[in-house]
Formats: sequence, structure tokens, C-alpha cells
Amino acid sequence: MKHTKQCLEQQARYKKDIAAFEAKYPNYCRACGGGGAIYGVENGAPWGEGYWPMPTVDVCGCIEVSLRCPLCGHQHDEGWEGESCEACAWTWDSQETAPDEPECMCWMDEEWKAEADAALRETQVDALADTY
Ligand SMILES: [Zn+2]
Ligand SMILES: [Zn+2]
Ligand SMILES: [Zn+2]
Repeated sequence: MKHTKQCLEQQARYKKDIAAFEAKYPNYCRACGGGGAIYGVENGAPWGEGYWPMPTVDVCGCIEVSLRCPLCGHQHDEGWEGESCEACAWTWDSQETAPDEPECMCWMDEEWKAEADAALRETQVDALADTY
């Protein structure tokens, strides 16, 4: 698969950003990116009614299960409520999170091209069949 120039640039920028972030917070939680929350999408439609995307937010296991600070990885005591971290000053409002990995859509182009190619070939076959 070949990436577009724009995609390669985005990936290069992401690599630099994530390296800088990791250098600053080597123990940040990879699951939540240091923010403490896991964002997802659930189907909110009644069964059989199709798909209504509903955003969901869950507290990450690093806080709820491991009692660790999502950002610096500091191990807290049992009584920790997961509201803030005294080791790195992390709170739920802090905006320090790992950069989002850019979404690569290049494969879509490839797939689209493959489909277009297949469709073209089919019409050629049809045209050939019509001739005979
Ligand atoms: Zn790409
Ligand atoms: Zn986490
Ligand atoms: Zn911390």
C-alpha cells in the first residue's frame, strides 16, 4: 500500500509529537493516553433498529483498577479517589494527553481503486461478450 504525501506528513508529525510526549511522561497510560478516560461509541438504537452512534466515556483501568496516575504512572494508596495526582499535578481537567494517532485513509483509496478496476474489467468483459 502506498501512502499519500499528506498521510506521510501526518505520520511524521505524530511520531515527533508522541516521542516528545513519551520523553516527558514515560509512564503514561497507553490505554487512555494519559487523560484517564476511555472514549468509545456504542449503538444506542433499540435491538434491530439499526445503528445510532452514542458516545461513551469510561474511567480508565489505570485509575479504577491499578490506582495509578494516568499521566505519570504514580502508584497511589487504596483510598485514592482518582481526582488528581500530587506527583505530577494531573487532574481531570488537565489537557496533557498523548497526541492522537492520525487516521490513515490510504487503504480506502486502494480499495476504491481496486473496486473501480474490477468494475471496469467487468464492463470490458460484457462488451466483449456483446461482440460475439
Ligand atoms: Zn496512509
Ligand atoms: Zn489509563
Ligand atoms: Zn501523576
